[in-house]
Amino acid sequence: NREWHLLSRPVGWPKPEDFALVEAPVPTPREGQVLVRNKYLSVDPYMRGRMSAAKSYVAPFELGKAMQGGAVGEVIESNAEGIAVGDHVLHFLGWREYAAVDAQHAVKLDAGAAPLSAYLGVLGMTGLTAYAGLLRTASLKEGDVVFVSGAAGAVGSQVGQIAKLKGASRVIGSAGSDEKVKLLVEEYGFDAAFNYKNGPVAEQLREAAPDGIDVYFDNVGGDHLEAAIGSLNEGGRIAVCGMISVYNNTEPAPGPRNLARLIQTRGRIEGFLVSDHYDLQPQFVQEVAPWVGSGALKYRETVVEGIENNLEAFLGVLRGDNTGKMVVKL
Ligand code: NDP
Repeated sequence: NREWHLLSRPVGWPKPEDFALVEAPVPTPREGQVLVRNKYLSVDPYMRGRMSAAKSYVAPFELGKAMQGGAVGEVIESNAEGIAVGDHVLHFLGWREYAAVDAQHAVKLDAGAAPLSAYLGVLGMTGLTAYAGLLRTASLKEGDVVFVSGAAGAVGSQVGQIAKLKGASRVIGSAGSDEKVKLLVEEYGFDAAFNYKNGPVAEQLREAAPDGIDVYFDNVGGDHLEAAIGSLNEGGRIAVCGMISVYNNTEPAPGPRNLARLIQTRGRIEGFLVSDHYDLQPQFVQEVAPWVGSGALKYRETVVEGIENNLEAFLGVLRGDNTGKMVVKL
C-alpha cells in the first residue's frame, strides 16, 4: 500500500520535496469499517489550501500523514452492515491505494449506471458545484448572458453547458489555450470563448459580450473578476466559486479596482461552498444524469495513471494541463 504524505507546507508553487510517496501496511478495517481498494483518485484545486497551515473551511493536511481527497474504489473486506465485498463506494480517503473507511462516510455507487470516474466529476462534487453555484448562488434566469472562467475545466465546462440547457441567451467562456477555446465553442456549444493568455481579459470579454453580462461564474479571480464587474449589467450576479489565479500567491492579490460599479448595477457578488448545497444532490442527479446519458451535456476527463503520478496530476491541475476533470487511475 502506497500513500502520499505532506512533508512540509509549500510556499508559493508546491515543490516535489514537499511530498513523499510512502510505503505503508494495508490498513485493517475495524468494526463498522470497510477496506477499499481505490480505483480513481480525485485531484482538486482546493487541496492547495489544505497544504497550508492557515485555517479555512477544511482542516489543513497533517504533516507526515496521508493526504486526503475524493476517491472511488471497490470494497474488498467489510465489517459494516449494508456494504458488501464487491460494492463500489465514494469516500474521502484518496491519495492512497487502500483505505479503511467508516461505513457512514462511504457512499455506495451504482457502478453500472456511469463510469466510476464520473462520480468524482460530472456526476460528483464538481458537477454539483457547477449546478448549485449557477442555479442557486447566481440565480440563473432564462435569457441571461453568462460568462464563466476556467471554462474548459471540470466545474466551468459544466457551468457553460448547464446555462445553455437552462435557457441562457449567450454563454461565454475563457480558458488558457486556443485548443481549449476551440473545444468550448465546437463541442460544448459556447457562443463565444477566448484565450485569456492572448490579451487583456477586459477587452476580450467586451468583444465577446458587447451587451454586457448578467452572470459571472468565477473560478479564477484576479483580472477576470475585475473584467466581469466591468461588463456587469444591471441586476447582475457574480458567484465566486474559486480564485485559482491566487492559490499559489505568497502576497495578497490586489482587489478589483472597479467595485463601485456594483452600486450603479445593483450588482451582487456572493461566494459559495458546494458543501452547503448537498440538499440539491438528488435534484442535481435527477436532472443532470439524463443529460449526460443522452449526450446533451458533454464532459471530458484527463486521466493520469498510477499512484506515483498523483502529485504530478495535482500540479497539472494548477498549471492547466487538464481538460475537464483531472483524475488519477490506479
Ligand atoms: P479545473 O478542472 O477547472 O482545473 C483548474 C483550471 O484552472 C486549470 O485547468 C487551468 O485551466 C485553470 N487555471 C490555472 N491557473 C490559472 C490562472 N492563473 N488563471 C486562469 N485560469 C487558471 O478545476 P475545478 O473545476 O475542480 O475547479 C475550478 C474552480 O472551482 C477552482 O477555483 C476551485 O478551487 C473551485 N471550486 C470551488 C468549489 C466550492 O465549493 N466553492 C468546489 C470545487 C471547485 P486553463 O488552461 O484554462 O488555465
